[in-house]
Amino acid sequence: MAIATLLPATTAFIQRAPRMLIGAEWVEAADGQTMPLHNPATGEQLCVVPRATVDDVDRAVLAARQAFDDSPWSRTRPRERQNLLWKLADLMQRDAELLAQLECLNNGKSAAVAQAMDVQLAIDFLRYMAGWATKIEGSSVEVSVPLMPDQQFHSFIRREAVGVVGAIVAWNFPLLLACWKLGPALATGCTVVLKPADETPLTALKLAELVQEAGYPDGVFNVVTGTGITAGAALTHNPRVDKLTFTGSTAVGKEIGKIAMDSMTRVTLELGGKSPTIVMADADLGSAAAGAASAIFFNQGQVCCAGSRLYVQRKHFDNVVADIAGIANAMKLGSGLDASVDMGPLISARQQERVWRYIEMGRDSGATIACGGERFGPGYFVKPTVIVDIDQQHSLVQEEIFGPVLVAIPFDDEADALRLANDSPYGLGASIWSNDLAAVHRMIPRIKSGSVWVNCHSALDPALPFGGYKMSGVGREMGYAAIEHYTELKSVLIKL
Ligand code: NAD
Repeated sequence: MAIATLLPATTAFIQRAPRMLIGAEWVEAADGQTMPLHNPATGEQLCVVPRATVDDVDRAVLAARQAFDDSPWSRTRPRERQNLLWKLADLMQRDAELLAQLECLNNGKSAAVAQAMDVQLAIDFLRYMAGWATKIEGSSVEVSVPLMPDQQFHSFIRREAVGVVGAIVAWNFPLLLACWKLGPALATGCTVVLKPADETPLTALKLAELVQEAGYPDGVFNVVTGTGITAGAALTHNPRVDKLTFTGSTAVGKEIGKIAMDSMTRVTLELGGKSPTIVMADADLGSAAAGAASAIFFNQGQVCCAGSRLYVQRKHFDNVVADIAGIANAMKLGSGLDASVDMGPLISARQQERVWRYIEMGRDSGATIACGGERFGPGYFVKPTVIVDIDQQHSLVQEEIFGPVLVAIPFDDEADALRLANDSPYGLGASIWSNDLAAVHRMIPRIKSGSVWVNCHSALDPALPFGGYKMSGVGREMGYAAIEHYTELKSVLIKL
């Protein structure tokens, strides 16, 4: 068993009880209130962080507003924005192990995986966005202006930074989700107030230190730690915010979307999912089973685009399910600091209870638990679980569980697979496992989801837009699509 030793810098960061960054100041909450953070692998308290008040959030937004309107940042050239983002990515690379250990302690995920995936993807993404900073273009247009037929005009379209961004993120990929907001915001010249998830603010606070070290002007990036109900809501309602960008549950996202519409605040919503994994009869069944297992069990199933519904063509259903159950049964559960562990704990006792309720619901309704179906502590562990003999309309098939629980259903043909895959309120991702090129190309346009993977699942790249159809959200992150979401278009017409 190879237990990672914590870096002295990791222990020191946690022991010093990190504070929030508002403008240039590292501060406690205005009323001195704090909230405890827990290590999900043990249930023990890690440290406390400030519980931001409405006033704290208002001060952070004001700092971001002033930085956007009046500071040197508002005159920063694209090349400087590119270089700053690249510098920030370099600092994250230097501190990659520390960031990964914080993510492990705070979220429960494997430190080794966090370093290779979460932190590295965040770094790669910032470098990708640094490239866009120098490539944001408007266009010039030859116009007619029918009402003034005798006049000449010069006309062009500018793409301008949207302004102050209020970013609210979930706890499953705390650093990566924050960087998905920060990257396009800083590339385009916006300023940001980030509200990390209640449970997982540590890497956001470390990120704020690195933003300062990189040399960003004060107020460009602010972090307020606190609850959704107070700090998140205060950010959502603040009239000085120009754009809200939210990653989290569909229920909260819908509320934020309604509030944003009231004030016409720009809004991007990255919400829940219930993504299908479709295994066609001609697929390489061994890799399909391994891929389907990883699609649901990676990050303890706490992935928005996790392949949580498995559809297998009937004649291979039992074999594929047995293979996945075999993989699940062989998985070692434990602390994310142990590199030999395959699956860590869920984020909290509350999430463990929620996932457990779904498993009980399946059992009570007569479904078969093909493997797993157990929970244990200390820490918030649930064994990787596969459930069969379940109806497509069952809550376990229709609702997002957000844990290591796979529901599996057989299908008869391509049309049946498409019908089942699309029978969901969500539309974030889907994977097709097949070697039949024609069938795959017939299916891709008919699947109602923002991403379709073929012979892989949840494979992300900074250049590919990511986001949802239907209840999985509004807008896209990553790719040039993100730049579009952090900018406004301004049409200019000059009468000559
Ligand atoms: P959540 O909606 O409970 O919380 C997300 C964030 O919103 C947290 O920071 C929370 O403090 C804040 N919040 C809560 N109530 C709020 C309110 N009334 N006003 C403003 N902010 C509020 O979600 P969660 O349980 O933290 O995350 C899990 C969900 O996130 C899942 O549904 C998952 O699918 C989704 N998710 C989506 C993506 C994506 O890219 N589509 C990525 C990761 C997670």
